[in-house]
Amino acid sequence: MSKFRRRAGRAGFIELVLPRACAGCGVPGQLLCRQCRTLLAQPPRRIAPKADVLAPVYACGGYGGPHREVILEMKERNNRAIRPYIAAVLRAAVETLQARGEFSHRLTLVPAPTRTHSARLRGGDPITQLCTASGFPTRQAVRLASSMPDQSGLNRDDRLHNVRGNVQLVRSVPRGAEVVVVDDVITTGATLAATVDTLTYAGADVAGCVVLAAA
Ligand SMILES: [Zn+2]
Repeated sequence: MSKFRRRAGRAGFIELVLPRACAGCGVPGQLLCRQCRTLLAQPPRRIAPKADVLAPVYACGGYGGPHREVILEMKERNNRAIRPYIAAVLRAAVETLQARGEFSHRLTLVPAPTRTHSARLRGGDPITQLCTASGFPTRQAVRLASSMPDQSGLNRDDRLHNVRGNVQLVRSVPRGAEVVVVDDVITTGATLAATVDTLTYAGADVAGCVVLAAA
């Protein structure tokens, strides 16, 4: 039996013995209660990041309540069952922005880069998995330089300086397609700023960035 199947089997067992609770608020019952679904379904709004991101940034919500909980559930607790729900939130946000004319209908999602070693520990990069699950074409085009120092403990200016120049293009971006950068949480926007710079420099037409939550 593969490692993956063993893990999935264990998750299934835990689900059988433990009562289900909402991943957004903890209320017993469904995996995501009706109230949390409604809160997660609010349309994306444009935000003004502290960093100079040279493309519009849209957030699906603030970093609190169900937005924060489902992100933690997906990333820190590696809950695979919640992924389709978050992918649906991302899909709805992108479709809303397409309907508003902010994005075209020929777009490719590019997951914002995460540290490879932390992604490997979690069994893959959750943002890439999320983009793929949303149903839009997805291209893992950028990564963080392995030599980049850790961001935690750095102030805003140091973070900006730290990440700038450390986002590397690893795959070309499709010609003629618009690119939308996706990340889970935006704090200063330093990673998005550096990612947009790298993609634009590589000739990509970056239409904007979508984040699940703005801290
Ligand atoms: Zn709930």
